[in-house]
Amino acid sequence: PNDGVIVTRFAPSPTGPLHLGHAYSALTIQALAGDAGRVLLRLEDTDSTRSRPEFAAQIVDDLNWLGFHWQGEVRTQSTHRAAYDAALDDLGARGLIYPCSCTRADISRAGAKLGLQGLVYPGTCRHRPMSEAQDGDALRLNVARALEHAGALPAFTETGPLHAGTHQPDADTLINCIGDPVLRRRSTGDIAYDLACPHDDAAQGVTHVIRGADLWDSTPLHVLIQTVMGWPVPIYHHHALVTDETGRRLAKIDRSKALARYRDEGVSRAELIAMLPPLPITPLAP
Ligand code: GLU
Repeated sequence: PNDGVIVTRFAPSPTGPLHLGHAYSALTIQALAGDAGRVLLRLEDTDSTRSRPEFAAQIVDDLNWLGFHWQGEVRTQSTHRAAYDAALDDLGARGLIYPCSCTRADISRAGAKLGLQGLVYPGTCRHRPMSEAQDGDALRLNVARALEHAGALPAFTETGPLHAGTHQPDADTLINCIGDPVLRRRSTGDIAYDLACPHDDAAQGVTHVIRGADLWDSTPLHVLIQTVMGWPVPIYHHHALVTDETGRRLAKIDRSKALARYRDEGVSRAELIAMLPPLPITPLAP
């Protein structure tokens, strides 16, 4: 359906200003899409306590300054709540999500008893039916059951430099290292990134997901959700983080400094780009 054209997106969360890492990501996406590619802008503002319209406005302004060009309207996730709720209803009707009232403290206490690592969910509420769900409950995906529903998961293609190749999502990793993820948050009722992101990639016809290597570990879960929901699995490209690549050349830059502050100090677009690791030269093949 994409007529051999790359459709990709930059998807910042308006929970703070853009930094150099975001600038590198946006310009990498633009370079990999090439002149023929279609680049979209999506504001991932599902976190109602941390997202602010001022940050969203500043992001748009910074991207214009940076020369990042996107096509069509900006997609703002908070205006698509009904679509995410419909996906949750669908998962609920198939018994693939359950309500969970565990706090972080409950989870680490129960996890410690079972010898689980970190915050892998120990499954305390997994037996609870959706008919018991309260407004303040989290909703979690039952990963083991989702895997049964999905059947064999498709392998996905990664074209990024760190993990280039074909990867088979592995059930053992999904169950024991990722665990049952929250798709709707406790108390705020916010939709979680792990649902909104794959939903929107499908809704926007994204063929190539280009993003930072910090999200590499989420990819098997996204492929599981895509498969269970019948959404296409895009091609992935995880670029190195500015922090990973910090050679001597980057040692002097302040990664925690907002792009807007460099602008205020009179740094030009070209000077800013010169502070970043080299951008890709060759666009991805559609
Ligand atoms: N909103 C996410 C972030 O700011 C990026 C999500 C993605 O590109 O998949 O880190």
